[in-house]
Amino acid sequence: MGVQARLVLWASDEAAARRAAQAAFERLSAVELALSDWLVDGELAHLEARAGGAPVRVSADLFDCLWRSLEIARASGGAFDPTLGPLTRLWREARRTGVAPAPEELDAARARTGWQHVELDLAARTVRLALPGMRLDFGAIGKGFGADRALETLAAHGLERALVGLSGDHALGAPPPGAAGWKLLAGARPGEQRELELSRCGVATSGDSEQFFVLAGVRHSHILDPRTGLGVVARPLVTVVAADATTADALASALSVLGPNGAQALLQRCPGARVYFEQP
Ligand code: ADP
Ligand code: MG
Repeated sequence: MGVQARLVLWASDEAAARRAAQAAFERLSAVELALSDWLVDGELAHLEARAGGAPVRVSADLFDCLWRSLEIARASGGAFDPTLGPLTRLWREARRTGVAPAPEELDAARARTGWQHVELDLAARTVRLALPGMRLDFGAIGKGFGADRALETLAAHGLERALVGLSGDHALGAPPPGAAGWKLLAGARPGEQRELELSRCGVATSGDSEQFFVLAGVRHSHILDPRTGLGVVARPLVTVVAADATTADALASALSVLGPNGAQALLQRCPGARVYFEQP
């Protein structure tokens, strides 16, 4: 996933803690294998090769993450969309070369996107990508999903007082002994940060400090507005607290697109979720 993974946990037995941590890191690797779009021979590549064709049976991780992705795509009116792969690959290439994609290329890529064109069969655990050339991108949800799965693994080893952090995405378990929660700082500007004390939930922060593309002098985020296929311009820093890290991660990206004015309708559909915006 291209980031450092951090586990913090309380245990009474060091050997047991090490075994649990090892299992949690292995769980993260398995999630990465199922969701990464960087692996030429990975599960995602295999699924995408059948786009426009028959349904494909997939791993539980790929199926579950896609299921959650479509829920949030629907709730956000498509502001979060796991099918932006054709577009995100174009912009990834543009960031590498410094050359923007041609308008025809963007149009052609956009025609191959749309979360409504993904068909899931829960009983058979199959996925059908209905349009030829469709490609998935879990960049905006995969770290949260991985953090949740790693936290579950620690809990299965009896370690419930734990935190899993993957850059800005955190899955929080039960609080440290004697504390009301895990203390996290939300926001980027020193002095304006807000201290959160939380447990048993997910927290995600979204910021575009490193990944952007300058187009006609304007800085575009690596978070795309699916309606235009372009990176979001006026992107506030977003911190989201939600029921789990999967939801928080995806909501942080969706709310980067929707902005403060569009946030209310989405938050009402996600029980317990709240957001803090900070202008860059
Ligand atoms: P941040 O860098 O702020 O943490 P994320 O890592 O959560 O943001 O998500 C950004 C990545 O998600 C992009 O690099 C791209 O791969 C993908 N992406 C971009 N725009 C969207 C979108 N509107 N919906 C879903 N995924 C997106
Ligand atoms: Mg995200």
